[in-house]
Amino acid sequence: MEKPSMISARTEKIGPAHPQMGAAYFGNRFLNHTNKDMAILAECCDYVVHTMSEADLYYHKAALASIFSATRRLGLEVWADPWGLGGVFGGEALSKFLLDHPEDWQVLSNGRRVPAACLNSSRFRNFMKEWVLTVAEMGAQVIFWDEPHVYFHWDLEWEGIYSCNCSACDALFRRKYGRALPSRLDDEARDFRRALLHDFLEELMGFSRKKGLRNALCLYAFEGYKEYERIWNDLASLPSLDIFGCDPYWRWPPRQQRNPAAHVSHFAERVMDAVRPAGKGGQVWIQAMRLPKGAEWEIEKACLAASEAGVTHIAAWSYDGGALLDTVLAENPGEVWGAVQRAFLDLRAKRGK
Ligand SMILES: [Zn+2]
Repeated sequence: MEKPSMISARTEKIGPAHPQMGAAYFGNRFLNHTNKDMAILAECCDYVVHTMSEADLYYHKAALASIFSATRRLGLEVWADPWGLGGVFGGEALSKFLLDHPEDWQVLSNGRRVPAACLNSSRFRNFMKEWVLTVAEMGAQVIFWDEPHVYFHWDLEWEGIYSCNCSACDALFRRKYGRALPSRLDDEARDFRRALLHDFLEELMGFSRKKGLRNALCLYAFEGYKEYERIWNDLASLPSLDIFGCDPYWRWPPRQQRNPAAHVSHFAERVMDAVRPAGKGGQVWIQAMRLPKGAEWEIEKACLAASEAGVTHIAAWSYDGGALLDTVLAENPGEVWGAVQRAFLDLRAKRGK
């Protein structure tokens, strides 16, 4: 395993100038290919979000450590994303933890077990800490907590069916509220669910911070459901969080279409409203994937809107227009990435770097 380069990241050199630009990178574990890609990324980015799935944790640590080193050698900051770990984080990756530990699955209030690790499980928390220690040793500088969530389904939520009702969660609820977890969602069960997500993330972020890492969190860009807004505000102010953000994709789901500048601007302002009191950074993700031919110009509008809202970090999901992944593949990925490069270079010129 290569030692991480000691070259300081570009983000440390540029000081408070904003925004900093980054992109998600995944799917390639060949160093030669990475070197070419990182050279391209270094022309317009300050940081790279590398996914590190459970498959990477088990099978690609040496290759990915070299990739992290190659990234840092070019002055790019390395962010690590626990992609799909335990079915709790976002990402197109499968979970071996769930296969190995069926007893740690979440349980819905109707008794059905669902493939997502219980956030109350000490085995899962320890597994996550092992992952943090591994990426820290490999040279990561920021952990990108990617869309962490308790198992959720709209139809079930309206019926009051919720997660998690496993025996460990029930015991915790009994100690706190003096009764069993209800079979239908009520105010105390909502508070409990919110507190569980808060406690899980704060424990992991606090652990990461002690290991010298910074913490970034991304939540779904969604509004119109009061309980979700409570979760959003609560998590945005987590004590060990450094950068809070969301992903206001204006053509997502792909059949939806919103005005890119207005949609991004609205959520970027919401992010900054949430982080300003505690002086944290604010990040907005730009849809650089799953765009139809001819819509690539929207990326530049969206980047400009995010910058004007004052976010400290802009990021593109993903490098090369999602070319590698069926679920996010753009119709013309080359054009999509070209639009990202133009937009990022324009922003970089504006900030004077
Ligand atoms: Zn549970």
